[in-house]
Formats: sequence, structure tokens, C-alpha cells
Amino acid sequence: MKSIQIAIDGPASAGKSTIAKILANDLSFVYVDTGAMYRCVTLAVLEAGIDPADEQAVTKLLPELKITFKPGASEQQVFLNDNDVTEAIRTDRVAKNVSQVAAYAQVREAMTQLQRQIAKDNGVVMDGRDIGTTVLPDAAVKIFLIASVQERAERRYRENQAKGIDTQTSLADLKKAIEERDYLDSHREISPLKKASDAVELDTTGLSIEQVVDKAKEIIAQKLN
Ligand code: C5P
Repeated sequence: MKSIQIAIDGPASAGKSTIAKILANDLSFVYVDTGAMYRCVTLAVLEAGIDPADEQAVTKLLPELKITFKPGASEQQVFLNDNDVTEAIRTDRVAKNVSQVAAYAQVREAMTQLQRQIAKDNGVVMDGRDIGTTVLPDAAVKIFLIASVQERAERRYRENQAKGIDTQTSLADLKKAIEERDYLDSHREISPLKKASDAVELDTTGLSIEQVVDKAKEIIAQKLN
């Protein structure tokens, strides 16, 4: 089981991390949130006062960044240079800038290397945008999770309210931000958001978390048999 890789890709707020966490827990695999890694780079860029449009300056910062994960009581904690940034990476400010930072070749190269390193030593459930196409092209299971943009915005809105993050942001603004991020992520030159040819698409619109988990488990059982 050690080297089994499960890739979960899809657009923003499609439920990837919720489903991936449950699957990883049930399978005793390591959950890898690759979006959190790109968010960490973006947070570091903003905190250093670097313009996210300045590719050279962003790239120069990369060797100074150490990104790690630790299992927490209710959710995985994310550390940037040993500081807990689990909440700080979820703000609108980071979300608005992350697609630009994530499009840079050297940022992608550094994050991809880190992701492959983790997958080398562990059974993993990894979620992101390019896991099935680029990071783990030989993953045993590839799921492409989608949902209507309206439902994705509503989920994000409820999550923000529950966590007390950017609670003033309206549903309409969240919807617009999700659409913009999806556009940028699927139109960038390197490793754009795209369904791998051998991925199974799973539309979660109108489904409960339990229903999506059940469907994902069916896909996993089929693929692993
Ligand atoms: O998954 P999450 O919404 O946290 O991802 C944040 C951003 O990180 C995405 O919008 C995308 O720009 C970038 N990302 C990426 N490749 C991945 C995962 C995330 O480019 N594998």
C-alpha cells in the first residue's frame, strides 16, 4: 500500500480537500494539500512586500521557504518557516494573488519536487490542479471533482462564516473570485487545470459529503481491483 497514489484534481472549492482528507484518513494514507503549498508561497511573497507580478523577485524568495504539514486535532496544520499559517493562507488576499504566483515555472518546479518527494515515501491522497496530469502521472486512481460555480461559492461562503475568515465577503464576490481563479488556473501555460485523460469525473453538485465519499470509494475500489 505504501506507494499507492490517489490524485484528486478539480476547480476551486469543488470539495477536493474535504473528500481527500476523509479518504486519506480511512486508508491511513498521507493527505497532501498542494493548494496550501502555493498559498504559502503567495503569503510569503505578500508578507515580504514583493509584487506578485515580479516573477524574478518571487523566484528569488523560493530557497528561503520551508513548507511543512502537521496533523492537527480537527484539521491539518500548515507551517511556513515553522510559523503556523493554517488560517493566514485562507484569506481573500492570498486567494486573489495565488494563481499569478502559481503560474511561474520555478514556483511550479519547486512545489512539484516537494510533492513528489512526499509521494515517494508514503501512500498519498493528493489534491490540486495538476496532480493527475503532471505531478503523479502514474497515480493508480485519478478523480476529477467538479461542481456548479454557484454551489462552490455557497460552500466557500458557509466555510468562511464558520471559520470567521473574510466574513464580509459577499456570495456574489466569492463567485466572481472563484470564476476568475478557475480561468487563470486553466489558461496558464505550465500544467494548467485540466482533467487527465484517464481521470474519472465526479460531479458533486447536489451531493452530500457522504455521498461523494461513497462514490469516490467506488472509483478507488474499481481502479485498485
Ligand atoms: O486548492 P486551492 O484552492 O487551495 O489552491 C489555491 C491555488 O493554488 C489554485 O487556485 C492554483 O492557482 C494553485 N494550485 C496549483 N496547482 C495545484 C494546486 C493549487 O496551481 N496542484
